[in-house]
Amino acid sequence: MQPTRRKFFQLGAGGVAATVLGFDVRKAYAQAQELKIARTTETRSLCPYCAVACGVIIHTLGDKAKNVTPQVVHVEGDPDHPTNRGTLCPKGSSLYQDILNDRRVVKPQVRRPGSDHWEDISWDRAIEEVARHIKKTRDETFVEKDAQGRTVNRLESIGFIGGCTDTNEFNYLAVKSMRSLGVCYLENQARV
Ligand code: SF4
Repeated sequence: MQPTRRKFFQLGAGGVAATVLGFDVRKAYAQAQELKIARTTETRSLCPYCAVACGVIIHTLGDKAKNVTPQVVHVEGDPDHPTNRGTLCPKGSSLYQDILNDRRVVKPQVRRPGSDHWEDISWDRAIEEVARHIKKTRDETFVEKDAQGRTVNRLESIGFIGGCTDTNEFNYLAVKSMRSLGVCYLENQARV
């Protein structure tokens, strides 16, 4: 076969090259993809970037032995997820780079009043400090009655916002907890 220049660009370089050389590289590409995830563990999760909350499958390599550090090798859309049915937008498709990233924050951090930097703290300390701040703020600002003397029992000085990876169960507990404190301003980005 002697393709014309126009035909070459119409068919695409890969397709023509495969035809000219007499073999179809598509099968080789499919095989390579299969090998990449052949021995991985699949974990279903949600893309954390936006309110669509697309389902993803995270492929992790490692035989779960104690001396083996699991390694994420691939992230793809979940074909069984009702929201996206396997598709991902460019942001979701780059999740692999989000997981394997030296700049990813994996510990709680706090920036103290007047400080110009964030410091790492333990989870126990973070929970203790958040609880202390909530208690202090609530004690100081809780509104029992409005200007007309009507009972309102509300806390306007604390807001709560959730993320798209929060489950329905988590959100149920969050709303119950916040309402019990009197919090009026609570929101979640997800519309699922
Ligand atoms: S894949 Fe794209 S559309 Fe889906 S949740 Fe992530 S950012 Fe949103």
